[in-house]
Parts: sequence; structure tokens; C-alpha cells
Amino acid sequence: MITTEDETKRRQAAARKDNGFYWRERDGVRALICAPLEQDGFTNAFSTRVGGVSSMPREALNLAGFNEDDAENIYENRRRFLKLFEGQWLLTGCWQVHGIDVRVVHSQDDAKQKPEVLGDDQYCDALVSNTPNVLLAVKTADCVPILIGDPVTRAFAAVHAGWRGTSSSILKRAVEELESEYGAQVANLRVAIGPAANACCYEVGSDVIEVFKDRFANADELLTPTRDGHALINLHQANREHVISAGVPADRIHLAPFCTMDRNDLFFSYRQEKKLHGRVGRLMSVIGTRA
Ligand SMILES: [Zn+2]
Repeated sequence: MITTEDETKRRQAAARKDNGFYWRERDGVRALICAPLEQDGFTNAFSTRVGGVSSMPREALNLAGFNEDDAENIYENRRRFLKLFEGQWLLTGCWQVHGIDVRVVHSQDDAKQKPEVLGDDQYCDALVSNTPNVLLAVKTADCVPILIGDPVTRAFAAVHAGWRGTSSSILKRAVEELESEYGAQVANLRVAIGPAANACCYEVGSDVIEVFKDRFANADELLTPTRDGHALINLHQANREHVISAGVPADRIHLAPFCTMDRNDLFFSYRQEKKLHGRVGRLMSVIGTRA
């Protein structure tokens, strides 16, 4: 256990002031925890870049991207990250392709498949499960990570939503899978929307603007025009609206108050770092339940 029970309770209470999030730190590794999701019984975390062994550019907690970092660094970083949680966990993810497929993780065996790549052979952008001691993981560096828990059925989901996934409603697909696979009621869901490139920094071009104008009735509220043919886009808000329109009560949706492009000291940002270093680390957002 990282903190005493009293300390955890104190941090959870303090988190109410910060959209429901608080920091957990162990051995220099730091992650953002959604307190209401935790109080509903879900182990969860949004990783930071702090406390790892990767040279991105230094002491970076890169948790994925085997073509851009040594596998041994990534495994050491994952080992350090998992020390933030009590008990034994099976980490499972998939090869993310900005699509709309949802992977159902039916069992621990399912989660163990191809452990050397942690299920990366499966193409998808969201995962759902109700299997204890499995941590569903999505990887991001500016895209929006979203974690969902249902305290009634104990089912949960992890979702990766960039502009493509957001415009094609990947989040709604994950909610539908929780309903059909586990009988979840939308009104019971708790949703944590993690650090991502926000409306303060994330500028898109006319290709993205056209897609959003086509698919969102309120696109004008999600897009703030900048220079000719460009606009700042609010993917946090777009995803929040998806789950509200699906029926999740607004007070059960928690938005992490961080922009990955602004807080490049804490988070990896593809847009800030690709042009500087060529290689960019990956954050990991995870959710699970204990037996
Ligand atoms: Zn920003």
C-alpha cells in the first residue's frame, strides 16, 4: 500500500476540489487517480512521464511504443508503474488504430494472450471487461484516454479517442458494449476523461473541421477558429457530450484539468515532442477491479 487508508481518504476528499482527481506517487513514479471512480471500487490511473528509465529525453516513464524505445525500458517502466497498485495485476491492451472496434476481455486467460506484447496483436481502440485483477490499458500521447466503471455490474472499460475516434463515437461504442455484454445501465456509469491535448492548444486543419461540422450539430461550440482554415478543437467536450447524450448523468463525468501540450513537463505530447526529438513516449491509462 502506498499511502495509509486515512491518507487515501484525505486525498480523495481533497480531490473534490480538483474535478475529482488526485496524485499518487511511489518511488518517483507519479500518476493521476480519479477519486470517485476509486470510491466506486475501481483501481484506476492516468500515468505521467515522471519516474522512468527511458531517454525521452531522460528518466521518462514510457509505457509503450516498441518501435521507438528498447523493450527492456518499457518493461521496467511498466513494472514501476504497476507498483502504484496493491496486489497482482495482468495488464492488457491492444494495437490501437483510431478505429471503432471494442475488445471484450472475457477472462484472465484472455488477458494473458501474447503476454510479450500484452495483447497488442488485437486491433481495437477500446476494451471492456468484468474480470478481476485485469487492468485494461489504453496508450496515448495527446489523444483522449477515457476510463469507465459500473459499480453495479462491476464491468469497466478503457477507451482511446483521438479526433478520429471521437468523431466516430468510439466512446459510445464502448458504452453500448458495457450494456450488451454485461447488462450495465448507462445511468450508473462513472466516467473519467484523462489528460489530453485540449482546446487551449490543439489546432486542427480543414480536414478535421469538415468531419466535425458533418457529425456534430454543435460543432461551432467545439471549434474555435484561428488562422484561415484552422481551428482549436475541444475533444474533452466532444467526448463528454457523447456520454451525456448516451444517458450518463453529468455529475458522474470527471474531466482531468490538464492539457498534455501545456504540461509537457508532466505528460508526453506527440505534437510538442515529435518535431523536437523524433521519438515520443506513451502514457498509459488503466482500470480494473480486485477480486
Ligand atoms: Zn493547452
